[in-house]
Amino acid sequence: MKKLVFATNNKHKLDEVRAILEPKFSIVSLAELNCTEDIPETANTLDGNALIKAQYIHDKFGLDCFADDTGLEIDALNGEPGVYSARYAGEDHNAHNNMCKVLAKLGENKNRSARFRTVIALIQGDQTTYFEGRINGNITVQPRGASGFGYDPIFVPENYVSTFAQLSAEEKNQISHRALAVKQLVDYLQQK
Ligand code: IMP
Repeated sequence: MKKLVFATNNKHKLDEVRAILEPKFSIVSLAELNCTEDIPETANTLDGNALIKAQYIHDKFGLDCFADDTGLEIDALNGEPGVYSARYAGEDHNAHNNMCKVLAKLGENKNRSARFRTVIALIQGDQTTYFEGRINGNITVQPRGASGFGYDPIFVPENYVSTFAQLSAEEKNQISHRALAVKQLVDYLQQK
C-alpha cells in the first residue's frame, strides 16, 4: 500500500480523505509522524502556502505528501481576505471578528460576489502537482445559521438561498470548494 502524508492536523479533513483513498493509499497524519511544529504559512498565495506545507514534510521525512490551503475571495474587496482568511481580523482573529471585518468593509456595497477556493499541492518524488476546487456565491448582509465554521454564516453558494451555515454538513460537503479539490486529487491518484 502506498504511503501518503496529509499535512494537516484537522481530523475532519483527514477522515474525509481517508474514507475515499483507503485502502489503496495509507494516509498518514502529522500527528502519526509526531510532527507538532506549526509550519509557517508565509507565502502570499494559496498555491504557495500549500506547497510550503507539503515541501516541509517531504524534506523532513522523505515521504510523498499533500497539503491544502483555502481562502474566501471577495470581488468588491479585490480578492480579500484571500490567503489571509484565517487571520483577517488581525491579533483578535476568530470567526466572529473575521466576519465582522468583512461585513464592515463591504458595507452596503451591492456587489457581493465571492468564492471559496481550495488549492492542494501534492509532492510525489520530484514531481509537484496542484489541484483546485472553487465555489462561487454571494456574501450576505447579516450572518445566518449556526453549523459549519469560519465564514460559513455569511456565504450563500450560487443557486442556493441558504448560507453554508444553514446547510447540513452532508449538503455542504457535496458542493464545497474543499470537496471539489479533494475529488480532483482522488481522481488523479486513482488513475495512477
Ligand atoms: P484552511 O486553509 O482550510 O485552514 O482555511 C483558512 C481559513 O479559511 C479558515 O481559518 C477559515 O477562516 C476559512 N475557511 C476555510 N474553509 C472554509 C469553509 O469551508 N467555510 C468557511 N470558512 C472557511
